[in-house]
Amino acid sequence: MLYDISGDLMNIYDMTYKKLCDFLTENGEKKSRAEIIFDALYRKGITDLKLIDIPEKAKKLITDNFTTPEAECIDISDGETAVKYLFRLSDGNLIETVLMRHEYGGSVCVSTQAGCNMGCKFCRSGRLKKIRNLTAGEIVSQVLFVKKQTDNLSGISVMGIGEPLDNLDNVLDFIDIMLYPKGLSFAPRKITVSTCGIVPKIEELKNRDFSVNLAISLHAPDNEIRSELMPINKSYPLETLMEAVKDYSEKFNKRVALEYVMIKNVNDSTECAEKLSRLIGNSKLYVNIIRYNSSEGDIYECSDFEQIMRFYDVLKKNNVSVTMRRELGSSVNAACGQLRSDYINNGN
Ligand code: SF4
Repeated sequence: MLYDISGDLMNIYDMTYKKLCDFLTENGEKKSRAEIIFDALYRKGITDLKLIDIPEKAKKLITDNFTTPEAECIDISDGETAVKYLFRLSDGNLIETVLMRHEYGGSVCVSTQAGCNMGCKFCRSGRLKKIRNLTAGEIVSQVLFVKKQTDNLSGISVMGIGEPLDNLDNVLDFIDIMLYPKGLSFAPRKITVSTCGIVPKIEELKNRDFSVNLAISLHAPDNEIRSELMPINKSYPLETLMEAVKDYSEKFNKRVALEYVMIKNVNDSTECAEKLSRLIGNSKLYVNIIRYNSSEGDIYECSDFEQIMRFYDVLKKNNVSVTMRRELGSSVNAACGQLRSDYINNGN
């Protein structure tokens, strides 16, 4: 079993430092034990709670109440620049996690939901509706599993299956656990949260005192195209979204990425590039151009290389900061949800 979410024991990876302190003090223990427990779980990689170096009484409290479920990996797809892991949750649901290998080290892309309800038309994950949110511990376990597979895990992208801001409480607990200085101790700038644009949740994220990187799945320069591609745009149109994103960028003095997948004859014209430039203006937002990774049954196809370059050139001419994402995932079918949906569609 991957996660014992239905049993009596609690998943210790669900616990933020504060929650663990509260648990300890509510049960007559010193909260200083929490630091030792975090060090054991996240720095030493101890999975047997009996081996944590705390007094017997505190240890009994922990072992009587918690478990350390490990990820059950049922498939691995190993490419040159990325490795994709398929995990089975304790209730049988499947999720995916990707390790991306960069020159400077590895980064992990985690899933936050089993399925997704956002219905973006170009996304394979969206075809499998949301079954449930993942707990913070289930997201943490993806990182811990991948960390064991690589020497140097330097970044986390919250960009896998699911809409992270549709599961914000658990995602915030997950981030809290990743940031804790006596644990894995990631810097906020090493964590990127992606969203399709749930504006009130972006505002909630903005009101936190940590400033993770934000990436917006934009994919269109106007409401007409965006509403066609992404139903969320009908609830939070571009003007509202851009205002919230610019506020986030200004509050934390951070560049925010606008992800833009190039879809042939839909959003890739030079006119679209001009509109996108105007949308960005002189803000600190930048565009990350992504080649569309199409697969069987998709209604869209990737723009031609020449058209992508024309689009890129217009942005450059307009002084828009723009990057092109290296196609790390395509060798392992790593557009979000592809391994999982292949597995399910093949009757597994
Ligand atoms: S792109 Fe993201 S938000 Fe949209 S359907 Fe796919 S997983 Fe959900």
